[in-house]
Amino acid sequence: MQLKVFVTGGAGYVGSHCVRGLCDAGHEVTVYDNLSAGYRAAVDHRTTFVLGDLADRPRLDATLAEGKFDAAMHFAAHIDVNESVRDPLKYYRNNVGNTVSLLESLRDHGVKRMVFSSTCATYGVPDAVPITEDMSKNPINPYGRTKLAIEWALEDSAGAWGLGATALRYFNASGAAADGSIGEAHKPESHLIPLTLQVALGQREDIKIFGLDYPTPDGTCVRDYVHVEDLASVHRIAIESQEEGRFRFYNVGTGLGVSVKQLIEAVREVTGHDIPAEPAPRRAGDPPELYADPTKVMSELGWQPKYPDIRKTVETAWNWHRTHPNGYDAAE
Ligand code: UDP
Repeated sequence: MQLKVFVTGGAGYVGSHCVRGLCDAGHEVTVYDNLSAGYRAAVDHRTTFVLGDLADRPRLDATLAEGKFDAAMHFAAHIDVNESVRDPLKYYRNNVGNTVSLLESLRDHGVKRMVFSSTCATYGVPDAVPITEDMSKNPINPYGRTKLAIEWALEDSAGAWGLGATALRYFNASGAAADGSIGEAHKPESHLIPLTLQVALGQREDIKIFGLDYPTPDGTCVRDYVHVEDLASVHRIAIESQEEGRFRFYNVGTGLGVSVKQLIEAVREVTGHDIPAEPAPRRAGDPPELYADPTKVMSELGWQPKYPDIRKTVETAWNWHRTHPNGYDAAE
């Protein structure tokens, strides 16, 4: 079954890897991206690329009218938690408002299958770890709240007009394509793995550890680093198996918790660099421990991560950063 898939945010980090996975599986992909945070060079050449903004409703409608798509994947969103606290309406406008426009347009053009980029931030500080889908969702920042609001819009749309949608609540997206051709590049960079690799590249002096007094085994925060190619495979499986009228939601992580200290140690092993690390105050809004119970996505979708081991994930990230020390800039 070949699908015509409309992908918003397909030039971003997770989106570009998922687009590639769709193309490899023989699907026909149109990427719709305003390049505000993504890169043209990250977009697979087998796609049709539309430089478009979700806020530009006539352009969105025209693209959907022309494309006659079977399905959509929606990655386009603002993702900076700190910024979302400072400027919440920017997040509600773009993440929620523009998703409502997208849903209206999908409905009007008869597209009734989609996969949505959700997040473990919808749980806030979880009741317990590992996190299962039935735990209470109390997001602690506007970013997480916008993603949860979108999940509600999807669920309500499933009941009202037959949308079939899957919300994939991912944990920490990490790593890069195994062949080193695409990888992670944020402007500005705020994520632990790329920042630590920048130390190995000599681009920064040290990595700051945000908090050493958490109630965790070594005092540093614990996260679940899920490989971006494993995210690509779960998106592909979800879109291929999506039925109309049904809303599904899954936690997507490896199920393994890795502390900040353990992550830095893995980077030392992979790069051979001693990676100076300095204690720093806690970052506001960081829950101590977040890792998934991926049982539901594994049993219902048959998904298996190829990268359960943080070291292998870091190896792919290092391969990308080493060969692209300035991200996509040289390629732009
Ligand atoms: N972190 C850190 N130093 C940094 C960046 C991040 O100690 O320079 C910590 C952060 O507090 C969190 C973990 O690393 O516990 C992962 O942070 P990241 O921003 O990569 O992802 P998040 O978990 O916020 O989605």
